[in-house]
Amino acid sequence: MTLSGKRAVVTGGGRGIGAAVARALAGEGAAVAVTARSRDEIEGVAEGLRARGRPAHAIVCDVTDPDSVAAMAARACELLGSVDILVNNAGVARSAPFLRVTVEQWEEVHRVNATGPLLVTQAFLPGMLERGWGRIVNVASVASLRGARYITAYAASKHALLGITRCLADELAGTGVTVNSVCPGYVDTPMTDENIERIAAKTGRDAEDVRGGLEEMQPGGRLITPEEVAHAVMTFIPEAASSLQGAELVVRGGGAR
Ligand code: NDP
Repeated sequence: MTLSGKRAVVTGGGRGIGAAVARALAGEGAAVAVTARSRDEIEGVAEGLRARGRPAHAIVCDVTDPDSVAAMAARACELLGSVDILVNNAGVARSAPFLRVTVEQWEEVHRVNATGPLLVTQAFLPGMLERGWGRIVNVASVASLRGARYITAYAASKHALLGITRCLADELAGTGVTVNSVCPGYVDTPMTDENIERIAAKTGRDAEDVRGGLEEMQPGGRLITPEEVAHAVMTFIPEAASSLQGAELVVRGGGAR
């Protein structure tokens, strides 16, 4: 195991990609704290890891709330000792035609997808800099790299996350701390299930039919698995990855972007 002795925090670790990332990190020997708002989900993930003999904790946190982030960071450092690895994965997706994007939707999506990673990174980065070692991975999206119909708020927030990654990467050069992004296409998670339900409800189409359509739209003809995204996240963690700085790894089964 390559990560024995390392301590990791995964935001949005209660389901989907975050849960898979937590399992991958623990599988390599890291002690892991998973955070999200739904206590039951994060407790379930932490319990599953402990059942496999891994040290794991669940800490409730809303990444949009500075006080909640500060409390989570203090608790994580108390439980783990310190934090070497941060995966900013918590996110929400909303869709609407451009003219129907409301200020509420715009702000909600930006608060979770862009302000959240900013706040959580600000909470853990000082400790990493002090120790001269750290790994931060931001779960962005192919929507960080290009636009598409009906996802203005989501794509803008994910472009912002990529902007945060690139700027911070410049500041971190030579510090021993790296920050990088993964940019998945459609992944088979509860977020995509919700998306499918929403499209089905709006269009009157059958949910299975909508899912099939999404799969066909993917270069590989299928949805990406959460484990494939977790594998991409893990690429940025080892000692040998110390020169990967400000990179984005696209995970979509075909084509660069
Ligand atoms: P899920 O909806 O399955 O999981 C999202 C996680 O984020 C949950 O644990 C949720 O927990 C947490 N979360 C949401 N809002 C907050 C908040 N305010 N504070 C703390 N935690 C929060 O999503 P996925 O696993 O699909 O997505 C994970 C990441 O991957 C997201 O950033 C998403 O944008 C990105 N992504 C997803 C793709 C996909 O196709 N699914 C494609 C590309 C990128 P809770 O609600 O309990 O707080």
